[in-house]
Amino acid sequence: MSRETEKLQEILDSHRRVVFFGGAGVSTESGIPDFRSVDGLYHQKYDYPPETILSHTFFMSRPEEFFRFYRDKMLALDAEPNAAHRKLAQLEKAGKLTGVVTQNIDGLHQKAGSVHVMELHGSVHRNYCMRCGKFYDARFMLESEGIPTCSCGGMIKPDVVLYEEGLDQNILRDAVKTISEADVMIVGGTSLAVYPAAGLLDYFRGDVLVLINKGATPRDNSADLLIQAPIGQVFSQIVVR
Ligand code: ZN
Repeated sequence: MSRETEKLQEILDSHRRVVFFGGAGVSTESGIPDFRSVDGLYHQKYDYPPETILSHTFFMSRPEEFFRFYRDKMLALDAEPNAAHRKLAQLEKAGKLTGVVTQNIDGLHQKAGSVHVMELHGSVHRNYCMRCGKFYDARFMLESEGIPTCSCGGMIKPDVVLYEEGLDQNILRDAVKTISEADVMIVGGTSLAVYPAAGLLDYFRGDVLVLINKGATPRDNSADLLIQAPIGQVFSQIVVR
């Protein structure tokens, strides 16, 4: 175990109200690509860049193409939680972790057993008919062809926050509250490039800010503990007690 990971263990052993804030890097070790990393979706072959395809305008004007990309790149339904997801779920069960705030839409925190998960960007596991509101799961979306259509004839929209769309205010409020009441905040697997999500750090008033990321972030200097390593690798060494 590295000295930094030992320090993280000490912090977890000596504090009770821990909040976790995570980004794409939390899921890359589960095989889900990071939009902004060099190996990520930006560098894969598609007619438009992902942030164009995953915009509200594109979804409304070219839904068939949106869903072709969506099924191909966004629905990794066989992905399994990694050590980071699993340890965070154990920390919550042990009464140490008050919540997980995530930018990911893959549902892997819940799959690992986490209960209080604030999904800033929604989830691929929830999909609703735009006409009657009927619910459909991710498997239905994956197995649909062309434009997924409800039994009423309406188009089904994934409950994910597309570019140009605002965040859910209730989830944002819950995240702000959970972060502002925490003693320890662990930020992991995010380059902290996306606002307003990244601005959530400013609500933390606790004792210890831990940053775990493979690359540098604009907030590295404000961290009490900085671990530059893959987050699953770090958490795999953590003992929950
Ligand atoms: Zn419907």
